[in-house]
Amino acid sequence: MANKKGKRFFLLTAIPTGSLLAFFIFFSPGLQAVAQKPNILLITIDTLRPDRLSCYGSTLVKTPNIDKLALAGVLFNRAFAHNPLTLPSHANILLGTTPLQHGVHDNGLFRVPQGLPNLAVYLQKAGYRTGAFIGSFPLDARFGLKAGFEIYDQSYPAGSGLEFIYPERKAGAVIKAAIDWLKSLANSPADNRPWFLWLHCFDPHQPYEPPEPFTSQFKNDLYSGEVAYVDLELGRLFDYLEETSQWNSTIKIFTGDHGQSLGEHGESTHGYFAYNSTLWVPLIISAPGLRPRRLDENVCHVDIFPTVCELLGNSPPAYLQGQSLVKVMKGNKLPARKIYFESLYAYYRRGWAPVRGFIEGNKKFIDSPLPEFYDLKNDFSETKNLVNPGLSQEKEKLNELIKSLSRAAVDSRYYPEAETKEKLASLGYLGGYHRPAKTAFGPEDDLKTLLVFNNQFEQAQDLYFQGKAEESERFLKDLIARRPEFDNPYLFLISIYERQNRLKEAEAVLQAGLAANPGNYQLAVDYGRVLVSLGKEDLAVEVLNRAREIIDWDPELWNNLGVIYWNRSELEEAIKMYEHSLLLFPKNPVALANLGAAETSLALKNKDNSWLVKAEEHFKEAIDYDAGQVAAYNGLGAVYRLTGQLEAAIDYWQKAVELDPDHQQALFNLGAAYFDQGDKNQALIYFSRYKKLYYQTLPEGEKAELDSLIEKCHR
Ligand SMILES: [Zn+2]
Repeated sequence: MANKKGKRFFLLTAIPTGSLLAFFIFFSPGLQAVAQKPNILLITIDTLRPDRLSCYGSTLVKTPNIDKLALAGVLFNRAFAHNPLTLPSHANILLGTTPLQHGVHDNGLFRVPQGLPNLAVYLQKAGYRTGAFIGSFPLDARFGLKAGFEIYDQSYPAGSGLEFIYPERKAGAVIKAAIDWLKSLANSPADNRPWFLWLHCFDPHQPYEPPEPFTSQFKNDLYSGEVAYVDLELGRLFDYLEETSQWNSTIKIFTGDHGQSLGEHGESTHGYFAYNSTLWVPLIISAPGLRPRRLDENVCHVDIFPTVCELLGNSPPAYLQGQSLVKVMKGNKLPARKIYFESLYAYYRRGWAPVRGFIEGNKKFIDSPLPEFYDLKNDFSETKNLVNPGLSQEKEKLNELIKSLSRAAVDSRYYPEAETKEKLASLGYLGGYHRPAKTAFGPEDDLKTLLVFNNQFEQAQDLYFQGKAEESERFLKDLIARRPEFDNPYLFLISIYERQNRLKEAEAVLQAGLAANPGNYQLAVDYGRVLVSLGKEDLAVEVLNRAREIIDWDPELWNNLGVIYWNRSELEEAIKMYEHSLLLFPKNPVALANLGAAETSLALKNKDNSWLVKAEEHFKEAIDYDAGQVAAYNGLGAVYRLTGQLEAAIDYWQKAVELDPDHQQALFNLGAAYFDQGDKNQALIYFSRYKKLYYQTLPEGEKAELDSLIEKCHR
């Protein structure tokens, strides 16, 4: 879906992986490191429709590099995702199980459980170097896919500037980082371990903004332009592999996490319905010894993990739910089976009816209050719903399938030792998401019935991005009145209000939103944030603690709680909150700068300079991760001022003012520092600017103090 709220501060993350060693008990003892294993390249392109690849017959785009993979590999004409969403799909691929086992049904609300070892853990154990290179936030390490990767490079930009849009790192940058990593491996010839590289490119995901020349070349079909751009960039990686003689010996797996509806069935993006426009994905596998061919068998994402196992000559871990495709790639038939799929975004976020179903041969059954049945042989794009009297049988089959896949979940779930469990629980690993209260759904809850609301929301977004804020606001208010349990209109409306500084209105919207959706995490968090801006901190703490009961592993939440305690001068409590936030997201420059500020305040309050040592370290770390972190420069100035290093203090405050010429504290601090140095001219410059910008907001005592300082400068 387009409608995900952009998060504020994400760069590099490392989720503590707990006791990883304990997870290895899953593996049979026969799995020993062998140096001669082939390298493995897994490419997942986000939001990729097969029919935009020329090897799948597209006439809209030429994709010569991906075609090259197809020429050398086995191309599956009918590969399916189990979910039309990024995180669940990647969990399916990397864990080799469906959501019925790993439990990740949506982006953001779920995190991959650490008890099921993923492909990286498996390959690391088998002696592989492992690297992941990620294009965007839905796969942030906090969501649990990092286990087993020695490098999990997710340095996508911190924010997009627009709410509801994920920050994205372009394919060129992702691929360059991946090639650099491969080069670094090549530079240690003593280490001849094979590598496993997972590459994720987010580019075809909306919004469509391919770089030139693709913008011009595809101006009427920018989605295809993104695909063409990704193909070009992939060529660089492929060239590198050829130049270094690694191309032929590498197992290459290419797929997409889901498709993009592009208007089919009334859906413009993905994540809402479960039609083939979003579940059908490309899958191309090539490996030494496999003859190139094209296959029409139904295959799916969970087949990838067991296929890798068999290609390496290992037996797959018992908990995997797919089938190895090696035999079918060698010309044999797969046994008949059902492929499970689901689309639960609207169910978890809005309490609308769940969508689940299966594909079996040419039959596709979609269970919902208004069920659907399609003949994929004659109607692959699902235009003719063949609801027939036999449907109750299909429903029964689906229930059996769900039961069989879910039973495995219970059997194979990992139970950590007590101590680990406590630690994991404190980090939210074992936390659950509050399910919508509703369990029975009628036609009025069916996504097809509710599509009109979904589309009205998308229209409201489009209007806003076209600069028509008032019209957008009207659309959103109307939607809220008609569907109070639909959270996106509230969230989008308050993002408009906040940008227009209409905080009182934002507060009212959020209060109503949370009352109508008491289990909604995002509404609670946003409500808390707005309450803080309005100075209603007691209520904010109450609301945010309520949010913590819904999801307790969000580093942003802990950071926000820290800010509130800091504002209330409860410094020890604030430090605890920031530290917890940093435990969840260690390289967050905002939380680091906040922590430094709280430590500086505590040093002052307790007259204990040992806190300044910590503060200095944290401010510097914040700047390491974000060279534009003004608060950290201002904080460093304070640390040096307090330790008598006036020159250094001035340097840092200057830097702060360079970055933000209106920075309130830095302006005053600079004035005071120059005044102390006896440089009254310089002091006057900063005091005057400070007075001009902030005099009206100062309490009387501070006004008088400032006037007196300025007066002294004139003498
Ligand atoms: Zn995706």
